Amino acid sequence: MKTLKEVLDNSRRIAFLGGAGVSTESGVPDFRSSNGIYKARQSYGYPPEVLLSRSFFDSNTEVFFDYYRKNLLCPEAKPNRAHTALAKLEQQGKLSAVITQNIDGLHQAAGSRNVLELHGSVHRNYCMRCGRFYPMETVLNSTGVPRCECGGIIKPDVVLYEEGLDTRTLQSAVTEIARADTLIVGGTSLVVYPAAGLVDYFGGRELVLINLSTTSRDSEATLCLHEKIGEALGEAVGC
Ligand code: ZN
Repeated sequence: MKTLKEVLDNSRRIAFLGGAGVSTESGVPDFRSSNGIYKARQSYGYPPEVLLSRSFFDSNTEVFFDYYRKNLLCPEAKPNRAHTALAKLEQQGKLSAVITQNIDGLHQAAGSRNVLELHGSVHRNYCMRCGRFYPMETVLNSTGVPRCECGGIIKPDVVLYEEGLDTRTLQSAVTEIARADTLIVGGTSLVVYPAAGLVDYFGGRELVLINLSTTSRDSEATLCLHEKIGEALGEAVGC
């Protein structure tokens, strides 16, 4: 059986598609995990998909920000071996894009440059009235509803439930996957939209799946690893 290192050595244009599992090794909790759903129901009486919906943001803004600060902002999180390995592959000219469902900015913190953030980023926040930009710290260090100097509400540039994905980001993701000779999918069980559908655009040689548990596409993979993504990628890339 071929190894991940052999696949990477023989690849010229890799695209990476990642989910929450990439960041859990950095200590970022997955709010969609069974524990995350349980905690949300216990503390707020709602599941995460309600707390993080646009209608809830509009109608219960203060509760939204309380949940958001405590569960989606992880200022202490640092990149792990998976982030570092992907940044190194990009520097070597072998990887063209990291496409992620995560909003924590850890790929950029590790040095990756072409990062397509399907669900936005906690590091970008905008006043809903005047459009002024604010960093994560403004939201983190505020209480109640964070307000701009103009009085407008500062909204995280994070795609909420009921909101559409940014079409340009999605189109770029489709293009990168369609052009890749190797697609590595990691840290996702491929059930959350849009990751599952994006895999269908891949027409290259090697489809690599790295996830602790089985995924819905395991049978289609040319290499399938059920292990921690940080260890698998770190070992293969040597970092
Ligand atoms: Zn403003």
